[in-house]
Amino acid sequence: MKIFTDHQREVARSLQDGASRSDWTDWKWHVRNTVRNVDEVEKVLGITFSSTDKRLFNLTLQKFPMAVTPYYLSLIDPDDYRNDPVFMQAFPSSEELNIERADMVDPLHEDEDSPAPGITHRYPDRVLFHVSNLCSMYCRHCTRKRKVGDKDSVPDKQTLEQGIEYIRNTPQVRDVLLSGGDPLMLSDERLDWILTRLREIEHVEVVRIGTRMPVVLPYRITDSLVSMLRKHHPLWINTHFNHPRELTQSSRQALQRLADAGIPLGNQSVLLAGVNDCPRLIKKLNQKLVQNRVRPYYLYQCDLSEGLTHFRTPVSKGIEILESLRGHTSGYAVPTYVVDAPGGGGKIPVSPNYIVSWGTNKVILRNYEGVITTYSEPASYEPSYCDRNCDSCNLQLKEDDAVEKAIGIEKLLSDWDDTTCLTPENNERMERRDDAA
Ligand SMILES: *Cc1c(COP(=O)(O)O)cnc(C)c1O
Repeated sequence: MKIFTDHQREVARSLQDGASRSDWTDWKWHVRNTVRNVDEVEKVLGITFSSTDKRLFNLTLQKFPMAVTPYYLSLIDPDDYRNDPVFMQAFPSSEELNIERADMVDPLHEDEDSPAPGITHRYPDRVLFHVSNLCSMYCRHCTRKRKVGDKDSVPDKQTLEQGIEYIRNTPQVRDVLLSGGDPLMLSDERLDWILTRLREIEHVEVVRIGTRMPVVLPYRITDSLVSMLRKHHPLWINTHFNHPRELTQSSRQALQRLADAGIPLGNQSVLLAGVNDCPRLIKKLNQKLVQNRVRPYYLYQCDLSEGLTHFRTPVSKGIEILESLRGHTSGYAVPTYVVDAPGGGGKIPVSPNYIVSWGTNKVILRNYEGVITTYSEPASYEPSYCDRNCDSCNLQLKEDDAVEKAIGIEKLLSDWDDTTCLTPENNERMERRDDAA
């Protein structure tokens, strides 16, 4: 498949008379010509919706706006658009207006876990930093659907400064994830400025960028962008492919540029009913990603955001998919399947069970083929008691500043903390005890 196919020329020219190949490969042309209404989609794809459908689509757009890059639109097969994975991710469905009881506006409580503008600080050592409110394509399955198209601006330097200031004043933050919106909607200069400011902070060890540009607008990955990014190593990028069809010639070239610049690439897919809820499809997708030097990182269970009901699968579908990957294909092609906990608990991995049973001396395990096997536990294992004093330990870590707080199950397992049980807040039994006291 080449870049600027006859079909792409048609798409381009239906949006702008005489549009050329160099317009097509110019990311700013796509941003200028982003398709935002139903009529334009009809024109570009050469299809006609019924007047009833159209009324419903427009009703949906009043609540959740649409934006699609001409490039991403050109991947849709007009002859079978209703089942097209690209169409389904980009074009509104009236089902978005069905709000179910379990649905929430901000299921991950990102707004509540925000100590500074643009910052979500959920985990001990890393933060999400929203540096852009813009996206070139509005994914219909966006977890931040509540915000899509809200503010048509990028945060100004002063607002960004407040986020950077928070990171600078919070020494436990060693990993910063630039997110948004799509951070690559910012100019190279603005991004360079943010990365430079973050790099000046000594305790920031890694920066990651989450972007869907390689999927929806691969021409954004220009040589000048890449030569700027590579100055800021160690820098990681996570992208968001959901379907093998999205790995076009142009996308693969974008990935190649990033990988050649020494940027480790990961992928975060979302499990979507009607788009990719198929073990064979996800396997193909992940194998193709690995072939393009992208490591499948997470497979997300679809969040409980309003407007996503029709995309949701049961969690069992994800487990079934994982079962079809582990052992059956390269470990590199097996992502971690996660449910992002409603209420802001973070990502919870979910996986098939491999431990069948466990006795004092043996663990019984099963493999992907159904083989049931026995692992004998070591007869002599010298359990080491850890009081977090590396001086008295034979392992060669020799940390002198064991200051991290223990959290959760790790705390219960540790030798050096006396906590024996975790009890939910407002536990009735505990309250009765307090009353009795
Ligand atoms: C996903 C996420 C992270 C990063 O989690 P990793 O498991 O380290 O990739 C950090 N902060 C927030 C709020 C997140 O949602």
